[in-house]
Amino acid sequence: MSEVSRQQRRREVRDRVKAGRQLLAQGLPLQPKMSEVLAVAQVVKAKLDETGNVRRASEAAELVQALAETSIAARPPTKQQIACTRGCSYCCHTFVAITPPEAFRLAAAVRGGHAAGMTPDVVRERARPQIGVAPEARIGGKLPCPLLVEGACSVYRFRPLVCRQATSLDVAVCIDEFEGRNLSARIPISGVHLQHASNAHITLLGAMRVAGFATDALELSAALDAALAEPDAEARWLQGEDVFGKVPRQVRREARLEQAIGHVASALDA
Ligand code: SF4
Ligand code: SF4
Repeated sequence: MSEVSRQQRRREVRDRVKAGRQLLAQGLPLQPKMSEVLAVAQVVKAKLDETGNVRRASEAAELVQALAETSIAARPPTKQQIACTRGCSYCCHTFVAITPPEAFRLAAAVRGGHAAGMTPDVVRERARPQIGVAPEARIGGKLPCPLLVEGACSVYRFRPLVCRQATSLDVAVCIDEFEGRNLSARIPISGVHLQHASNAHITLLGAMRVAGFATDALELSAALDAALAEPDAEARWLQGEDVFGKVPRQVRREARLEQAIGHVASALDA
């Protein structure tokens, strides 16, 4: 690359980061332009590239989770009656797939005493029954998330994107899934929450891919167990150690999402 193109490239990245920070503060539109997704992903990548910051993965998760919240708050769903209420937790008994940075953010919340004061050992013990159980077997299995305490999420502020998008329009379908009946019915969820969480996922995973990190979807209990196993798990993962090596890979992302992630990663890399 010539010096002129290098300078041009640096300017482009700087402009993207500036635009990305603005979008993080104001939220993404429901159907963002590619340039807007790339701008946010560039900020996330800059976070993942912060040399010497051993919390940069969990901080990247925090950025995109805040983005999803800000985007939903800026453009809340209309005409939809969301059935979710405090204390309703049927959905916290199903298979939840998260990203590695989100596992580290949850682990940091546990270590910081934010999970109803549970210690890492207690959470790991609570996670054990869910580890390795197939997604289909979780339906009707009534195995609670290790972070569910007295019917409420003990780490609400730190919860993964998938939990933020779980907004049912009909609790009866959630109860059916919890009980393992009427399995052909799909839970009707808020399209606005789903789309914003999906946009946030794409920015995180696109940035992770171009920064050279594996972007596998990991089951929450197994990933949290691995993230809590050693106090320096995040630092070691950032250095390339496969700390999630023993976590079974039980789900594949939708092709559409994979394609969008690949698209963002190649555009950032160009
Ligand atoms: S998604 Fe379903 S189970 Fe979860 S809080 Fe909403 S209504 Fe309740
Ligand atoms: S992290 Fe919180 S919201 Fe998500 S499944 Fe666990 S208890 Fe439920």
